[in-house]
Amino acid sequence: MTEEENRIDAARLRRNAYHREWNRRNADKRKLYRRPRSKEAKAKNAAYTREWSKRNIERVAARKKLYYIKNKERHLAKCKERRNLKRVELLAYHREYRKRNPEKVNEYFRNYYAKNKERMLARSKERRRLDPAIALRRLESSRRYYAANSDKHQALISKRRAMVRGASDGTFTAKQWKEMKAAYDNRCVYCLNVFERLTQDHVIPVSKGGAHAASNIVPACKSCNCKKNVAPWTPQLRIEIAA
Ligand SMILES: [Zn+2]
Repeated sequence: MTEEENRIDAARLRRNAYHREWNRRNADKRKLYRRPRSKEAKAKNAAYTREWSKRNIERVAARKKLYYIKNKERHLAKCKERRNLKRVELLAYHREYRKRNPEKVNEYFRNYYAKNKERMLARSKERRRLDPAIALRRLESSRRYYAANSDKHQALISKRRAMVRGASDGTFTAKQWKEMKAAYDNRCVYCLNVFERLTQDHVIPVSKGGAHAASNIVPACKSCNCKKNVAPWTPQLRIEIAA
């Protein structure tokens, strides 16, 4: 590109910028002054510009570069904003998708883990090495989770234990246990005393094929639950809980 062409382009860019700014500040006047242009005239103009651009590829590239350098910060800020917006949208979309298809997502992660187990373990090990506080944070978070979901967790553990011992059914839920304790006013069915902590006692022991279900569970204090294993014990109180 010659010096002359450079000078012309720089002047044109300045003029364009001035017009842009003027138009922005005088939107109402602009409407008034603008000559309506026909479709044909617009097309002709566009065709000329296309033709000119083809003949002056270098000049177009140089102008673009100059424009980019001058507006770099504005351009990058805009890109970043657009990216952030996209990310927020995408996160919301993923959250919604997970909610609607929990099985699909779980299966996907199970498969992914099976395929990439080694790589994932190595990566988390490396992360822990770089930031020892991670392990502590993770411990804190799981502690918080169990504190908030202790009933559910407890229900899962006792169900697993019952199934391992040969229970015929494992439908007892945390919600039922909560309802049961409330229905019995937190009393042990054997000694009828009130306890803050009660254990789930199977009327027909799971080892004898009893079910881990509301129909076969009663609240008992720890001491009565232990004694029962030595001698048969009859509940002094039975209240039906919805299955
Ligand atoms: Zn008791």
